[in-house]
Amino acid sequence: MKVLKARADWSPRKGYTPTDSESSGRKAISGNLLWKNPSFGIVDEPEPEVNADEIIVKVKYCGICGSDTHVYESDTDGYIIFSGPARLPCILGHEYSGEIVEVGRDVSGFKRGDIVTGESIFWCGRCLPCRSGMLNQCENVELMGLTTNGAFAEYIAVKSKYCWDLNSLEERFSKDDVFKIGALIEPLGCAYNGIFISGNGFNPGAYAIVYGAGPIGLGAVLLLKAAGAAKLIVIDVIDKRLEIAKIMGADYVFNLTKADDIEKTLMDITSGWGADIQVEAAGAANKTVPLMQNLSSKRGKIIYLGRAEAMSEMELNKIVSGSHYIIGSRGHSGYGIFPNTIRLIQGGRLNAVSEMITSVFPFSKIMEAFALSTKRTDGKILVKIN
Ligand SMILES: [Zn+2]
Ligand SMILES: [Zn+2]
Repeated sequence: MKVLKARADWSPRKGYTPTDSESSGRKAISGNLLWKNPSFGIVDEPEPEVNADEIIVKVKYCGICGSDTHVYESDTDGYIIFSGPARLPCILGHEYSGEIVEVGRDVSGFKRGDIVTGESIFWCGRCLPCRSGMLNQCENVELMGLTTNGAFAEYIAVKSKYCWDLNSLEERFSKDDVFKIGALIEPLGCAYNGIFISGNGFNPGAYAIVYGAGPIGLGAVLLLKAAGAAKLIVIDVIDKRLEIAKIMGADYVFNLTKADDIEKTLMDITSGWGADIQVEAAGAANKTVPLMQNLSSKRGKIIYLGRAEAMSEMELNKIVSGSHYIIGSRGHSGYGIFPNTIRLIQGGRLNAVSEMITSVFPFSKIMEAFALSTKRTDGKILVKIN
């Protein structure tokens, strides 16, 4: 079968000494410190065989995530930009949907023909964070498509405990649309986790600002709207993405590079109150943190989802005076995140979800899809695998 494999050279950055476990397992804690000269290519591999606790999925669609683009791109020193865990070579891809073609003998709750998607956080279930319910903070986590093989492949073997069936969506959508939407549940789940689980939600009627109109930011737009944000404002630096945000339900969109005195404008829009909830999905702390600290309402929440090796100063006195919350969040596993996101779609509460998909490429043209992803003008780019 055909798979997309990413390779790179293990070459510790000057001044960085890999930990013992990094060296022995070739699993970088930050790919940006260890993996150099990335190269991508479609190669032939044997089809996976099913283990007792696994299902074999014939992959239909797989989305390109910002993290995939960050493995594809390198910085001026030749290192991959991705600053999270990475073990290469690896079949990339973790935002997938497909159809079950084989079921392992210990698996229950799934059958051949089921339409499924899956979590990409492969939590162990044995470490203290996992046993305390914090699956997204698993100490032994493997990330599908980054530290262990992923879904830019015609077939994958995946443990059924990470999978969720999408059969109910067939009541509302065509089968092909179910497969397409199924590949969006993972990024939607990350936004859901940030807003409702890590961030503990917000009161309907809240004013909300989303920074970054990439797929996770766009997912946040859908969810904030569905949960009753009274005014929804989106800020990005790319007009095309802001247009998508508008279609998906944003009330106001602003291009940060063009707007002057954005703080005053946003304070006027919120009648001087500021935002009750702000979602950072841009990974641009030096640009967003100064805004967020000034635009937070009293007891406002700042949900930080953007991933980047970034530092930013913050005026903590403002946090004290305003009793603001700053909340980090990662992942999408546990807490009913996947099943509830699927229910929201099935119940017609996230009807604009398909608008997020702005390009679909056949598997044979996946390198063109990656090249396009570096322009950051799309919502979600999907690759049709089978
Ligand atoms: Zn992703
Ligand atoms: Zn664990």
